Amino acid sequence: MTKPALRQIERTDEEQLLRSIDRWLQRDVKPVVKQHDHDDLYPSKIVEQMKELGLFGATVSPEYGGLGLPARTYAQIVMQISSVWMAITGIFNSHLMLALAIEKFGTPAQKAKWLPGLASGEVRGGLALTEPDAGTDLQAIRTSARRDGEHYLINGTKTWISNGIEGSCVALLVKTDAHAEPRYRGMSLFIAPKQPGFRVGKKLEKLGYNSIDSAELIFEDYRIGADHLIGGIEGQGFVQATSGLELGRINVAARGVGIAEGALRLATEYAQLRRTFGKPICEHQAIQLKLGDMATRARAARLLTLDAADAFDRGERCDLEAGMAKYFASEAALENATESLRIHGAYGYSKEYDIERLYRDAPLTCIGEGTNELQRIIISKQWIKRNPIS
Ligand SMILES: Cc1cc2nc3c(=O)[nH]c(=O)nc-3n(C[C@H](O)[C@H](O)[C@H](O)COP(=O)(O)OP(=O)(O)OC[C@H]3O[C@@H](n4cnc5c(N)ncnc54)[C@H](O)[C@@H]3O)c2cc1C
Repeated sequence: MTKPALRQIERTDEEQLLRSIDRWLQRDVKPVVKQHDHDDLYPSKIVEQMKELGLFGATVSPEYGGLGLPARTYAQIVMQISSVWMAITGIFNSHLMLALAIEKFGTPAQKAKWLPGLASGEVRGGLALTEPDAGTDLQAIRTSARRDGEHYLINGTKTWISNGIEGSCVALLVKTDAHAEPRYRGMSLFIAPKQPGFRVGKKLEKLGYNSIDSAELIFEDYRIGADHLIGGIEGQGFVQATSGLELGRINVAARGVGIAEGALRLATEYAQLRRTFGKPICEHQAIQLKLGDMATRARAARLLTLDAADAFDRGERCDLEAGMAKYFASEAALENATESLRIHGAYGYSKEYDIERLYRDAPLTCIGEGTNELQRIIISKQWIKRNPIS
């Protein structure tokens, strides 16, 4: 498997990009987030603005119309957006995983056909791996693709697919050989555009992460040309789908950092405004202890995430670093959101305050791109591998 080339960006360009993202967040996103989240409303106008900012092509190479950003810059963008509204990062994140699979493994014809539209955001999509009976154990999927001349006939059900309703295509993981041993050798990845045979089963209702569509997708005698098989060779799908996981985990870690920092910011403001027993609550030791822990967690999560992104940008294997960042930052998000909510007292429980949204959004970061239980196992295995007894 090839590693991405070293990617760099001028520091001034990075700062300029982050400043324009911040201006957009303050001007266009902050004022509408609460209403959209509470009404679970798809943010169509924000999606148009994200297109203009180039976010749908953030990590796609410039030769296909993308920004070709290094992971470090991409991670900082995700952190910044997530500190205001994490859910909207899902609209371009899983889309970029689809683009990455095509850019890394697709045939020249597939890259030329799909990447420019994906990079501009005119074509939007996601990654369809999970099934009702297979999430962590991805090799247990049952969706099947049977070759029929120059076509494949696909049958099965995917679930929890982000952008499944609003997107027009997905990277679809299937079994082309249900009896292969080991199981991953029988798996293939297709670019699956919406057309007859591919329908949305239902929109899934969630605790948080509102406004972005999570859907069950049903494939019934879905017939697509063999030229939709990524790379053109069967049996490569598991590697293709999971090779994006390092970047995917850096991205979820960045989402966690954003929530951890956002929760800290809200608590910091509130603790200086709210007074009890004649002084601001930030002067009570119990609140100081919480703020001290929260600030340290947020900082550590940021540094771990940037460390993983730097390793990725150097082209190094970074499953250990990305796993640590994802695990730590997502737990930091959950803990900081909980502590911030407590610092807000009853107001933390109110729908009028932003912290309740961060509290509902945070747990997803512990589940997506590999649950944290799995993450710790991956970290441990890699740790032992890198530290053999001599
Ligand atoms: C909002 C949302 C959006 C999502 N978006 C997408 C998407 O766009 N595309 C997509 O394909 N999927 C998506 N997912 C699915 C997500 O990737 C899976 O939920 C995740 O991989 C876990 O799978 P599972 O839910 O089937 O849990 P399971 O695999 O059933 O796990 C259940 C529990 O058992 C633990 N567990 C499982 N195996 C082990 C083991 N070997 N050792 C220790 N513990 C173990 C898990 O950690 C977990 O605690 C999304 C999920 C959510 C909630």
